[in-house]
Amino acid sequence: MAETIKGPRGVRDILPEESWKWRYVLEIARKVAEDFGYQEVHLPIFEHTELFSRGIGDTTDVVEKEMYTFIDKGNRSITLRPEGTASMMRSYLEQGMHKSPRQPAKLWCVGPMFRYERPQKGRYRQFWQLDFEAIGAKDPLVDVEIIHLSLEIYRRLGLRNLEVAVNSVGCPQCRPLYREGLRSFLEPRLDKFCPTCQGRYDRNPLRILDCKKEDCKNLSEEAPSVLEHLCKECREHFDMVCRGLEVIGIHYTLDKRLVRGLDYYTKTAYEVLSGDLGAQNAVCGGGRYDNLAESIGGPAVPGVGFAAGVERIVLTMEQQGCSLGEEPRVDVMVICPEPEHRLQAMEFLASLRKEGIGSSMDYTGKSMKSQLKSALQEGASGACILGGDELTRQVVGIKNFRTQEQKEVPLAEAVSYLRNMLGLGNS
Ligand code: AMP
Repeated sequence: MAETIKGPRGVRDILPEESWKWRYVLEIARKVAEDFGYQEVHLPIFEHTELFSRGIGDTTDVVEKEMYTFIDKGNRSITLRPEGTASMMRSYLEQGMHKSPRQPAKLWCVGPMFRYERPQKGRYRQFWQLDFEAIGAKDPLVDVEIIHLSLEIYRRLGLRNLEVAVNSVGCPQCRPLYREGLRSFLEPRLDKFCPTCQGRYDRNPLRILDCKKEDCKNLSEEAPSVLEHLCKECREHFDMVCRGLEVIGIHYTLDKRLVRGLDYYTKTAYEVLSGDLGAQNAVCGGGRYDNLAESIGGPAVPGVGFAAGVERIVLTMEQQGCSLGEEPRVDVMVICPEPEHRLQAMEFLASLRKEGIGSSMDYTGKSMKSQLKSALQEGASGACILGGDELTRQVVGIKNFRTQEQKEVPLAEAVSYLRNMLGLGNS
């Protein structure tokens, strides 16, 4: 016999036991988006590879090692999106949103992202991100709004013990100078760094600060801080972000190591970390990307945003015992003990569904006893027993599992009786 096919490594099936928790998270995110004036968009999950290689940067881990890229049947290089920001900017430019008076465009989307990473707890090859972007304004208070928005989602979800780390990565004016200063610091010590860091020295030395290996961290402890090398504009921008955060009561720490993995960041970079997640501890990350639009061929358009991993939010909430709402369940099960009356049972079931009473019935030929048992196990609030005897008398036996009360009700009155029993009000 052929071997049963399994899913690829690093991808997950989000099963019913979990999917309702996702729905809860996404509903809260959707409400916060509305409250902050962000509008939802649906973007494609694949794009021309160039969008990411030019937008994110050729020397980043994501572009160098992690993209799912293939040649399509029209001989074009296509990539499954590894993140949302570049697509959002592409859409903003392509759809002419930069010409609209409504600036910044405040947009959000949710969906799967794809990265060929080493899978571990909280790190997958297909994962979902909530992606919020404010495109078209350079005001540092938009950065504050974005950070606030991400934290407001977490606050409403009941997450605790989160840490906000903030940094500035400068801009094309001040970063080259800093990069040189950093190289001068690193050079005499370079042979002690890990091979990955050594490889980054020429191409992207800022990423050395971001290495998670203890030895590398110790070695770069005394490295010069980017914050001391910001140009006047970046300094003022950063100060305003910090003041804005303080004014709205957001506690943050300055983290000079926070450079983030993607080239497009300018000025503000930030992450929200959870102590309850282990190695993959970032629940969200983001920042400003004032050069992204130009790098993908558009006019100069500033932007700021964040992406939050849905799996990690759910994991953290479970770990912290946060409420995730209630698992949806049907209100009642229609129980038909005799196979010859199943069609009438189906008709009754359809009449309940039409009136908004969540209901289901058995399709596997179970006995009456085991149908009742399953109804209880599945968390139904009650059962409607409809056999030959009941049908002859045009009644239905309604059992309320909460009160254990059982009553015969005329079929014509079943809907209103059930709506009342379930607290659904009159239809
Ligand atoms: P990034 O786009 O790398 O800044 O990631 C933003 C957020 O997406 C992170 O803070 C995580 O919550 C989540 N994330 C990133 N990569 C993965 C992954 N491979 N698996 C699961 N979640 C991820």
